[in-house]
Formats: sequence, structure tokens, C-alpha cells
Amino acid sequence: MLVAATLAVTGCQSIPRENDSRLLATLWFQSAEASACYLQAFAHARVALDEILSRPAPAQPLAIVTDIDETVLDNSGYQAWLIRTGQKYSTNTWKQWTSLASAPATPGASNFLNYAASRGVKIFYVTNRDLDETDTTLRNLRAAGFPFADTEHLFTKRGRDKSKEERRRNIARTNTIALLLGDNLADLAAAFDGATVEARAESVVTNAARFGSNWIVFPSPMYGDWESAKSSLTPASNAVERLKGPSALPAR
Ligand SMILES: [Mg+2]
Repeated sequence: MLVAATLAVTGCQSIPRENDSRLLATLWFQSAEASACYLQAFAHARVALDEILSRPAPAQPLAIVTDIDETVLDNSGYQAWLIRTGQKYSTNTWKQWTSLASAPATPGASNFLNYAASRGVKIFYVTNRDLDETDTTLRNLRAAGFPFADTEHLFTKRGRDKSKEERRRNIARTNTIALLLGDNLADLAAAFDGATVEARAESVVTNAARFGSNWIVFPSPMYGDWESAKSSLTPASNAVERLKGPSALPAR
């Protein structure tokens, strides 16, 4: 008993504290609530797409531009592996994960994108996965049942440029982008590229009418620009200093 208890405690302590928040985020992402949020978002995407399809057809073909990770593919298994092994994200282990090509589709993603394809809408996957992940990514997309999983419709990151704006513009030259799908606001517009916490919040308000009509956002608590964005108000702040809310409560 003592040995078992000691091992259990040691086991707990072997998980670094910095991973505690990852643990909760990953548990949540694998929860029924998260599944429901994805189903809801894709159900709404269908309503929004049907509305667009009911209007006179534009001169250029309609297209959907979607992010991949934590939008249509669920990589929480990689996060789980990081937590279990006490490791931090690295490009090397990430590519070990993507080489498996076994990330499941997020709930509702395959149904929705196949529905869009059946209505004559093209799908473009715009991802910040690297060019050398092309083959495994396409293999994973096909295994998860997604349409348009070919090199013509996959736009990986080129060089070090994380912005997706140039790729969106390329697609928009010959297509009318009906919907943009993503878990990270930079999946939607250049206004969010490298923006501060305050600028991101302001751009959301400025673009309020787009959410739910042309922009569909998915909940991703495991990582994202929301985590690394700098605050212009408290430049050297840590995450706790960025929290909104009172520092004291009245006595009662
Ligand atoms: Mg993503």
C-alpha cells in the first residue's frame, strides 16, 4: 500500500505545474461540452451557407476557407501525450504526431464540408502546418473523410510567414469566399495577425456582424494566439496580470 501510495504521489508530482492548465484545457476539449460546441458551430455554418446559396450566384465559384488544426482535425491526443510525458510543445514531436495522420475529425466537420461540396462549394484548407507535412496532412484529411483533400486545395505555411492573409487573397482571386472557419482569429482576417490583446478585442467588436454570417469560430482552450498575445496596457505582464476582475471583494 505504502509503495503504491508513494508511486501515485510521485506520478502526480512528475507532471510539471506548467502543464496543469494544459491538463484542464485538454480535458475540456475532450469533453461532451466541447463536442456540442463543435456540432453547434457546424450546424450554424450550414445555416449561414444555405443563406449565401439562396442569393444570386456570384461570378466566381463559392468557396469555404478553413483552418485545419482544432477546426476540422482534433489534435488533443498530441496535447494528452505532452501532458503524460511532461513535455513542452516542440516542432519535432508535433511532426511525429502529424506523421501518424490519425487525428480524428472534429464533431460535425466532415458532415458539413461534404454537404458544402455537394452544393458545389469548393473547400480550401489554409493551415500553418509546414510544407513538409503536406503528404501526411492530406492522408489525415482523407482518412477523416474530408472532400478536396489534394495539393490544389491545401495551403501550408511557406517559410516563416504565419499570416494567412496572402493565401486567402490568392484563393479570393479566382473564388468568392463564402465562409471562413477557424479556432484562431488570425484564421479570419489580417487584423488579428500579431495584434495585442486590446487590438484583438477591438477587432472582434468592429467585425461583430461577420461572426456567424461569414466567420465561424470554434472553441480551442489548449493553445492559440489568445495565449501569446501581448497586452499594450501591461507590456511586461504575466498571464495573471492580464486577468480581468477585481483584486479584492467587499467584506460581508
Ligand atoms: Mg487551428
